[in-house]
Amino acid sequence: MSGDLTLTSVTKSFGRFTAVDDLYLTIPEGSFFALLGPSGCGKTTTLRMVAGLEEPTAGTITLGEQDITRLKPYKRPVNTVFQSYALFPHLTIAQNVAFGRRRQGHKNVDSEVEKMLELVELQAMAKRRPAQLSGGQQQRVALARALINQPQVLLLDEPLGALDLKLRRQMQIELKRIQTEVGLTFVHVTHDQEEAMTMADTVAVMNGGRIEQLGAPEELYEAPATTFVANFLGQSNLVAGKVVGRDGSVIHLDVEGTAITAGSARARSDEGDVWVGVRPEKVYISEKDEERGDELNCLVGGVVSDVSFVGVSTQYLVRMPWGQELTVFEQNTGNRERFRPGDPVDLLWRPEHTFLLDASQDAA
Ligand code: ATP
Repeated sequence: MSGDLTLTSVTKSFGRFTAVDDLYLTIPEGSFFALLGPSGCGKTTTLRMVAGLEEPTAGTITLGEQDITRLKPYKRPVNTVFQSYALFPHLTIAQNVAFGRRRQGHKNVDSEVEKMLELVELQAMAKRRPAQLSGGQQQRVALARALINQPQVLLLDEPLGALDLKLRRQMQIELKRIQTEVGLTFVHVTHDQEEAMTMADTVAVMNGGRIEQLGAPEELYEAPATTFVANFLGQSNLVAGKVVGRDGSVIHLDVEGTAITAGSARARSDEGDVWVGVRPEKVYISEKDEERGDELNCLVGGVVSDVSFVGVSTQYLVRMPWGQELTVFEQNTGNRERFRPGDPVDLLWRPEHTFLLDASQDAA
């Protein structure tokens, strides 16, 4: 049994509350897929339905040709790695990894265990007990223990949530490497947008039991479909504007009396009132009225209101003439903190980095 994992019109209600609302989703075989969203959006419930730990109120779940909607969890070719590693403390690492296979009646599992420990780079730890391992290493044991069962689909429920930031970043790269190496379908649940974007081929952003947008990480980031996605994936500098004309693929806008242009490629809305957005790292901050090339031809003037040093970059808050503050990230390449609060500056960016959204949504 293998193939794409497909959810068709899947709904899960708890009493009168709908946690997952008419979900349609196809996860291609062998892909790294992330379900991303804030707490309570229904991502864990979705994962639990795939695992068989929760029965859908309506809809079907298929893996390849097979309908697995009502299959018992242990009959599904699916394994789950949770945030809590739940390793057996009295067993060695090798015994922990072997445990499930041995219980299924497999006798000669030593070479499989060795292969798995090699995959997660823990060969040297085989004889240790879980308490002698770091959190990240324990999580890798949990991963090896799931992968040794040769599932078709591996479900990961906030597996890195208990790790500190640095370890989490390392494990993200590790997980991606392991997924590429084994070529299985990974479905990863997280509320951390950076984590989802670092690892996944495809990300589904969930909100209120529904999918707001699904796509490659760059696509979601560069061309969000809704204000929710724009804000959930980072700062988006949303400003209210109005479309005033079109010129081929260029859209002309009026933003509080300032003329701004946008490329049509990222326009989710292209007439009347719109939200105009631009990511902070796409904005170039310069001295007021500085001479410049005209390829950066979105231009608004403002006054620096706050400067903070954030390691690789400096974050500027710049107050616009209409009172709103826009955020700008500037890479730190030596000329740290070029501007101070009170300095008049120009903000510039390329029209193709402007994105437009339907103004009927909240900016929140
Ligand atoms: P988190 O990141 O906090 O785990 P989530 O996006 O994974 O959030 P779910 O755990 O899927 O969210 O829960 C979605 C909603 O369904 C929540 O409002 C939750 O309170 C509710 N819910 C989940 N399980 C049950 C249950 N067994 N009974 C009643 N309500 C539930």
